[in-house]
Amino acid sequence: MILVSGCLLGINCRYDGGNNRSNALLEQLSAEGIVPVCPEQLGGLTTPRAPAEIQGGEGIDVLVGHARVVTKEGKDVTAAFLKGAEETLRLAQQMDIERAVLKARSPSCGCGLIYDGSFSGLKKVGDGVTAALLKKNGIVVLTEEDISNIR
Ligand code: SF4
Repeated sequence: MILVSGCLLGINCRYDGGNNRSNALLEQLSAEGIVPVCPEQLGGLTTPRAPAEIQGGEGIDVLVGHARVVTKEGKDVTAAFLKGAEETLRLAQQMDIERAVLKARSPSCGCGLIYDGSFSGLKKVGDGVTAALLKKNGIVVLTEEDISNIR
């Protein structure tokens, strides 16, 4: 079983109500048991919702209270992002899932590179909040862009 960002599977859970369906990814994972997950929805946020980015650090810093997640309008949504990460981890652990493919650059799902908090499209090195928590707990996290490394 493998955990996959719902938006990559075509579920309309993205902040703007759309998705990031990747046919290439679906083809790559066709032999796997897929568990779709959207941490931001699991954290209680609505769809659609305001876009948010991590400011003052990256996902691991949010986990220890040294950075926060804010919307473009400046609303602090850190608690929802933390709850979504915890719920995602709980699901993964309950199902003995050891691998995840998550959406690149997202403040929840991004792995290795995320938007930099300026809402300008610029990126910074780091993980999203959920990716950071999963990695901290021994789950291998990749993005759809490095899926070729998963096998
Ligand atoms: S990137 Fe993650 S949190 Fe954002 S819509 Fe996709 S699954 Fe949900």
